[in-house]
Amino acid sequence: MTVDMPLSSNIVNYLVWRYLQEAGYGNAAQQLSRGWNREPDTLPFARHVAQHTLINLLQDGLWFDKLQAEAGNGEQRYHFGRDHGRPYSARNGEMLTLDQGVPAHLLVDESNGAVQEPPPKRKLKGKKSKANGIVPSMNAQINGDAMEVEQNGNTHVSNSVRAESEAMASEAESATVADLPISTLSIGLSTEIQTEVIADLAPNTTFLADLHDPEMLIEHTSWGTRQQPVLLTAGRSLLRVNLLSKDPTPTISAYDLALPMSNFSVTALCWNSHDEVVVSAREECMNELGDKMVVDKLIKVVEGGTDYQVISASAGLVNTLQWNKDRDYLLSISTDGEKGSIKVWKNNNDALPAWTDFTETAIYDALWISESSFVVCGIQLFQVYEVQEDLTVQRTLDTQVTWETLKYDPTSGIIAALGMDGQNSILGILHPSDSLNLRIQEYPDLYPMNLDFRPVTVPPLADSPIDPSSTYPVVLATCSMSGAIRVWDANEPFQCLKRLSTTDDSQAFKVAFSPDGALLAAAGPDAVTVWDVRKREMPIASWRAQDFGHEKWDPGVSGEFSLGWDPDGSRLSIALGNQVAIVPVPSPIENFRPLKVIVIGAGYSGIYCGIRIPERLKNVDLVIYEKNAGVGGAWYENRYLGCACDVPSHSYQYSFEPNKNWSSLYAPAREIQAYLEGVAKKYSANRFIKLSHEIQGCRWDEAKAKWHATAKNLSTGETFDDTSDVLISARGNLNTPAWPDINGLKTFKGELMHSATWNEKYDFADKRIAVIGTGSSSIQIVPSLQRISGTHVTTFARSKTWISPPFGQQIWDKYSFDGFQIPQEVRDLFANDPEHYQKFRLLVEEDGNGVHPATIKGTPIQLGARQMFEENMKQRLAAAPHIFESLLPSFSPGCRRLTPGPGYLEALTQPNVAFVTSPISKISESAVHTADGQTHTIDALVCATGFRSAVAPPFPITGSNNRTIQQKWETRATTYLSHSTAGFPNLFNMLGPNAAIGSGSLTMMIETVGDYIVKAVRKMQKENIGSMAVKQEREDDFIEYVDAYFEKTVFKDECNSWYKNKAGQIVGLWPGSTLHCIECMRSPRWEDFDYTYVDEHERGDESAAPLDANGDGGAAGGGRKGQRRVNRLAWLGNGNSVNNEEGKHLAWYLYPEFEDRPVAPRPEDKARLAVRPFSY
Ligand SMILES: Cc1cc2nc3c(=O)[nH]c(=O)nc-3n(C[C@H](O)[C@H](O)[C@H](O)COP(=O)(O)OP(=O)(O)OC[C@H]3O[C@@H](n4cnc5c(N)ncnc54)[C@H](O)[C@@H]3O)c2cc1C
Repeated sequence: MTVDMPLSSNIVNYLVWRYLQEAGYGNAAQQLSRGWNREPDTLPFARHVAQHTLINLLQDGLWFDKLQAEAGNGEQRYHFGRDHGRPYSARNGEMLTLDQGVPAHLLVDESNGAVQEPPPKRKLKGKKSKANGIVPSMNAQINGDAMEVEQNGNTHVSNSVRAESEAMASEAESATVADLPISTLSIGLSTEIQTEVIADLAPNTTFLADLHDPEMLIEHTSWGTRQQPVLLTAGRSLLRVNLLSKDPTPTISAYDLALPMSNFSVTALCWNSHDEVVVSAREECMNELGDKMVVDKLIKVVEGGTDYQVISASAGLVNTLQWNKDRDYLLSISTDGEKGSIKVWKNNNDALPAWTDFTETAIYDALWISESSFVVCGIQLFQVYEVQEDLTVQRTLDTQVTWETLKYDPTSGIIAALGMDGQNSILGILHPSDSLNLRIQEYPDLYPMNLDFRPVTVPPLADSPIDPSSTYPVVLATCSMSGAIRVWDANEPFQCLKRLSTTDDSQAFKVAFSPDGALLAAAGPDAVTVWDVRKREMPIASWRAQDFGHEKWDPGVSGEFSLGWDPDGSRLSIALGNQVAIVPVPSPIENFRPLKVIVIGAGYSGIYCGIRIPERLKNVDLVIYEKNAGVGGAWYENRYLGCACDVPSHSYQYSFEPNKNWSSLYAPAREIQAYLEGVAKKYSANRFIKLSHEIQGCRWDEAKAKWHATAKNLSTGETFDDTSDVLISARGNLNTPAWPDINGLKTFKGELMHSATWNEKYDFADKRIAVIGTGSSSIQIVPSLQRISGTHVTTFARSKTWISPPFGQQIWDKYSFDGFQIPQEVRDLFANDPEHYQKFRLLVEEDGNGVHPATIKGTPIQLGARQMFEENMKQRLAAAPHIFESLLPSFSPGCRRLTPGPGYLEALTQPNVAFVTSPISKISESAVHTADGQTHTIDALVCATGFRSAVAPPFPITGSNNRTIQQKWETRATTYLSHSTAGFPNLFNMLGPNAAIGSGSLTMMIETVGDYIVKAVRKMQKENIGSMAVKQEREDDFIEYVDAYFEKTVFKDECNSWYKNKAGQIVGLWPGSTLHCIECMRSPRWEDFDYTYVDEHERGDESAAPLDANGDGGAAGGGRKGQRRVNRLAWLGNGNSVNNEEGKHLAWYLYPEFEDRPVAPRPEDKARLAVRPFSY
């Protein structure tokens, strides 16, 4: 249904009024009608009701209108369309009634059943009495006959009007319109009506009803980590690991963890790593005298659950265990009912706690809030402790409240708590900006039960970091037994952002955000309700106990209730008494399985990942580790004099971020670095980048399909492990300096530097300097040093080389460049005249890409280049013909990287420059000695000797079968299309071996490989791929292609170049042009990879699998009998697209921007096909 004209406020008011009256909100309806008569356009509804809420109200009103029409065998009065019908007018004096003067539901009786389904009567739920101490709920709605809207069999309160009014004792006391807490409303043009389908979660529920022993009772449930997504159930006579596959018909296997007790009850537990659990258990036993006694033990379950260590038998009755993973501390809280006891175990193998303290009153909850501090709460108690040398009370907050439960938001540093002050329920917030003042407010709903912060998976923008003073909303959800869920901004206590109602207004004992923060679940014994709170206030899904027989789930049984999310957010668990239900939360077809991606390096490549991954993928936890203290990669590191790009700056930038202000044709390194820093900031890539963090090793865990990376924080010296699904090596092809292997190099006592480790503080003036090398960096360094006052530069040239004239001279002339400098007026014109700049940019890019044929031997352009370069060099070295002779190579131009080298040849002819071709024989404390017997005494030695390129990284990367990339690449760095390597699943290189280009735009190649990787990650997410590894045969095919391709190119000539390895194979360059690479990467050949699918591990003896380090639970533990089958098309989801679920853009494919019209009469004549040589 669409509204094609604005609704008049009269109609809106009528429909809203109609709903209110019918739903039993007499006062609200009456006040609305009064206000309506006076000033119809300024009613509170018209100004304050959220559009979304209003639509619900209108729909309800329309529904009544329809019922009335059906009952009276007449026409519906109002429908969304051009004809709104006449405005409704008051009858019967000041009170509005329906035309018939009869409420709609009474019409049912009058009309002899003409109305098929009268508005159902609201169910009055019987009071629940639970033996587990849970206080029964007040019946939420005494004001009984509100309409319930049927949606997929779920009755649901459809708007916050009724939800807020529920607690009204009678109609006489019902809320007035102005009182109704209807928030922000914009009325007017509405272009769509949401039909909010609430998914029914019941059909795919799995029950773990295996607890036949009546003595067993679940008191705790805890999901493991993403590495170990098992569900731990613990309680009376129970400590069990449940492994649950994700098939449509899931298999369940479970095994009990070993405990040195028989008649026990687990009172607290926590994971202390992904495969170890610490529990506190109480055992009832008899002493020698036959008296009953209890023993409490703190136990660590080790060896995958097959063994245990008793940490202590004197910890008391522990009610809370919290693990501090940063320091490996275990916090245990016990209480004797009156006083609290705090123990911190430094190493949980120690029998005695490292620190102990006691509180005057009982402690009910405790949490670590930093690596060295924790907070405890309880009876009139709220205290922050600090663990350093001693355990000290850092802060005691003055409070009269009995605090029962705590939550901490690590991103904002806010602590939230729920408690009781006499009969009043209290919500408390401790904000880091006011850390001595616990702010409290009476909780607005009856019996608040639980709270949870929404996890922040995508870090905030760099410009608005979360700090105590920021206004970034910190989303906190609370639930109450009345079934009301509140969503707060904890940064603005106590600002309630939303009030939601559970399915059937069922009791909500627990509330929990999914691990990615996307969904909020609230649950009690009768129902589970799931919202996407960012999108709508109506639930997206619900689960009801009444859909099952009591043999599967009996909401009336006694016991603790618990709720938890599977670490990947695809399932919920609820448990009560001895029952556990696993409820899959289906997602639409565009589901984005949460994945973690680690990127190594923040240069051009890594920054690109930091932009495209958040743009194109959802649910990716992205971390970019950068060893330097700043971003920019090669351009941050290389600070030598004269350092600049050697291709035109305007084609050495991101395609989407042109810099119109480059100062020079060959921009200096500093400018490029500033550009990259600006781009990283502009697109907020910074939020993912961890500077001064060096990756020191990476290891592929086959069983878990994860990469483990060891990172060192270079600022603190701390080393830690991080884990990811995908590893992207964007560590640069020219990042490991190659020092020359010259006898005596280390004995040199003067200033020694590599071009990439430049000492910017060194004063070269009046110094004698040796420069080794004739590559790209030497070509830039020598003229710069030559110009410094008093220097004498000796350049040692082992290799011959071509020095090219500046590329594209005709373009620079045409665009009025001043030599290589770009005058300010030219830059201003670029900035102010987009068309002018676009033309220029195209020319530069086309010129660069047009050079490609020059790399093929024997082509006219190659032969022409040789002749032209030779003449140019000869002319520039006219004053020093011997240098020309020494430099002139026999190999073709382009075999080594071509650098235009402005001023290089001219510098060589200057009197303060010596050009030495005799090989270096050794280096001594103060001189370079050459084979011709000469000694060149120097003060400084500059090694412009390049980088170790296309070789294994200087840290171990261990792939499948424990094979390192160092081993694999020992003789040759081989890849598939430069980005993938057989034997190294889920690892992608950017600018890896065979990725660079000798001519044309390298940045476009970086982008295009980045896009390929993004597609691969998306495929893994969508299709539930656990790992993808390129097939060895396809890698072999690529290498065969590479070798064949380069045979005909200039790169295979006899020259020294970083494009080649020791065997002379071309490992540095892409086998083709930039455009060739773009087309290659555009459409991946997915069949070139082998895949494993999540959960599709091998089937084994699933009954007795240990909590194993292999991560595939029962499978690996119990032998290999075959492949567990999963439905590889499970990603088809719940039959919806996200747009269906959100009810928006339901015909997006007709929007002009997505239209793709063929041309007539011959579709193949479309103009853009002549430009871009592909159509799909
Ligand atoms: C002096 C010089 C001049 C160049 N000139 C040009 C040119 O004119 N035109 C051109 O096309 N190309 C040029 N290049 C090539 C240049 O490397 C690429 O153009 C481009 O900068 C590569 O970007 P990248 O992000 O892939 O790698 P890089 O820029 O090298 O960035 C890699 C990043 O990874 C980080 N890193 C490496 N190892 C680790 C680790 N273990 N842990 C954490 N971080 C790590 C590094 O610190 C670095 O910041 C030049 C290179 C150099 C060195």
